[in-house]
Parts: sequence; structure tokens; C-alpha cells
Amino acid sequence: MQPAKLESRSRPTELIDRFGRVIRDLRISVTPRCNFHCSYCDPLGDHHAEPKGVLSVRDVDNFVKAASLLGMDAARFTGGEPLLRKELPEMIANAAMTPGVKDIAVTTNGTLFRRRHKELLEAGLNRVNISLDALEPSVFRHATGGGEIAPVLDAIDLALELGLHPVKLNAVLIRGVNDTELVKLARMSLDRPLHVRFIEYMHLNNADLEVYRRAFMPGSEVRALLEREFGMLEVVPTDPSSPARVFKIQGSQGTLGFINPISEPFCGACSRMRLTADRKVRPCLLTDRELDASSAFDSSNPIEALIDTLLEAAHQKGRMGDVLPQIRERTMVAIGG
Ligand code: SAM
Ligand code: SF4
Repeated sequence: MQPAKLESRSRPTELIDRFGRVIRDLRISVTPRCNFHCSYCDPLGDHHAEPKGVLSVRDVDNFVKAASLLGMDAARFTGGEPLLRKELPEMIANAAMTPGVKDIAVTTNGTLFRRRHKELLEAGLNRVNISLDALEPSVFRHATGGGEIAPVLDAIDLALELGLHPVKLNAVLIRGVNDTELVKLARMSLDRPLHVRFIEYMHLNNADLEVYRRAFMPGSEVRALLEREFGMLEVVPTDPSSPARVFKIQGSQGTLGFINPISEPFCGACSRMRLTADRKVRPCLLTDRELDASSAFDSSNPIEALIDTLLEAAHQKGRMGDVLPQIRERTMVAIGG
């Protein structure tokens, strides 16, 4: 196989890592700030200004252009809470104008979606993933460190009204916090085309290891609890590079996905590359290694320099992430989920 790092200036049209995986999906964290305080994510608190050195609109544009020249075709904006970033529409508009970029999504807690949806859609946003850990307001408040559920449910209704497709809902299940909610969350897929995804809790908040182990719920347990309530779930065929194993309750309009990065790592089909809000390229969510791209962003030809950074990052992408709980250099909110 061809090594990802090239010696000459000839440029590959695909980004392929040492293990033959084609990297197509960009995850761009546009801010480390958040207005929720989910304990599994470890937000530092809501600062009113972006930290010094945060990605600029131009940085994101150059990065998306470099990635698209290497065949990457999907960009998902995340954070922290990406809708706190006032320049997000500009970033989306630039991505939408980049040849080859076909799918532009945001992952959001939904709180600001009603306020900002027009400018985001006008810019070219295709779809949204909305995080929803509980339906019972007190459980939701506990899971999100004080968050109110009403604007999140409103964001979900609005995303459906706007005809965005698919609308995915993300729930991280934590024993003792929101495991009482999983049947209610699954019911959301019954009458509306909502795609509820249960995500295994990753040790990305530097929680006490014993506390983490007790709180962790494997996807298989979640599925068994759901099958006890709804009967056997039907398999829904999906793209093999998708991290979710997808099922549906018989007769439902939406689906249920299980994202099991810990109990069933999907590293073998990983197609992702991340850019953090502080200008680092991160080949793997679950491995601390990052490449500081600041000099590439600031160079006289940033797109070419970023192509080199991406090739090097693909070369450094390991076969598997570090799925075992351990102390990480950064927590989820700073990496971008
Ligand atoms: N603020 C936005 C949101 O909550 O959707 C975007 C950023 S958040 C980091 C992206 C996703 O990562 C959310 O769905 C969140 O539930 C998930 N997440 C955060 N910490 C996690 C953890 N420790 N394990 C698994 N998923 C996590
Ligand atoms: Fe904020 Fe999203 Fe992290 Fe919750 S999961 S603290 S909403 S960034």
C-alpha cells in the first residue's frame, strides 16, 4: 500500500492511512465553550469570549479546502457548543461552496437552534444531530449540569418541521444518571422519523476510574433492556463505515442506533479526522496524539501546508484508539465530539 506521507509534490486524491482506511469525514470543533455542563464531557464553564488562538473563519475554510482536495466529502461542526460560535454560518457557507463537500452537519445541544436556524440553513447546513440524554426534566437537568429541556425538544420539533433529514438524537447512557430514560428515549423513534442513537460513555472526562466503571453501560445491555420492552429489534442495513449499528422497533418511523466505541470498537472502519478549536489535527478521538497545525495555518500557502499536515496525521493514525479508561490530556469538550 502507498504510504500516506508523500516524498514528492504529487498529491493523492484520497487520504488513506497506513491500514488502508479511507479518511472522508471531518469533525471540526469550532469552540471549546459550552452553555451546558454535562459531567461526562467536562466543560470548563461558559466563558463569554472565545479563547485566544481559536480557529478563525479563514482557518476553517483553508482546512476544509485542503481536506476536500484529499477527497474528504463530509464536514461536521461540533464543539463545545458550536452554535455559540457567532461565525458558524460563515464557516458553513464556505464549506458549502467547497467543491466535493456534500454533507454539512452540526452536532448541537439544540438550545440555540431556534434562534440561529435561519442563518445556518441559508449558509448551507444540511442536517443536525441533537444531543438528548433524558426526557424527564429533572433527569435532563442533572445530566446536563442544570440544562433546561424545553428548548432542546423545541429544536427537535423544528428540525423535523424544516424537513432536515436525517434528524439524529444522541444519548450517552450513564448508569445511575439517565438509565431510567432509555425506553422513553427509544419511544421517540416510534411516530416520527427520529434516529435515536445510544452512545457508550467513553472515559473522556477524566472521571475517577471506579466511578466510571460503575457508570458505564455496554450497548448490549441497553439493547437487551429495549428488547425486553419492545420485542426483537429489526436490523436496518447501514453503511459499514458508520459507527452506529442500526435497528428499529417494528413499525416505527425512526430507528435506534447503538454506538459502542468501548465494547465493540469500530476502529477498523474509521473514516474520521478531527480538527480541534485550538488548531490541532487529531487523528483519533480516543488517542491523545495531536499535530499542531498552527504553522501550517499561518504559512504563506496554508492549503498546501495543511494538505501535508493531513497526510502526516493520516500516517500517524493508529490502528485502534485507547479504549481503556485512563487519564487523558484533554477532555471531550476540548477535543470536540
Ligand atoms: N455540544 C454539542 C452536543 O452536546 O451535541 C456538541 C459537542 S458534544 C462533545 C458531541 C457529542 O459528544 C454529544 O452527543 C455528547 O453527548 C457526546 N459526548 C460527550 N462526552 C462524551 C463521553 N464522555 N462519552 C460519549 N459521548 C460523549
Ligand atoms: Fe456541552 Fe455538548 Fe459537552 Fe454537553 S456534551 S457539555 S452540551 S459540549
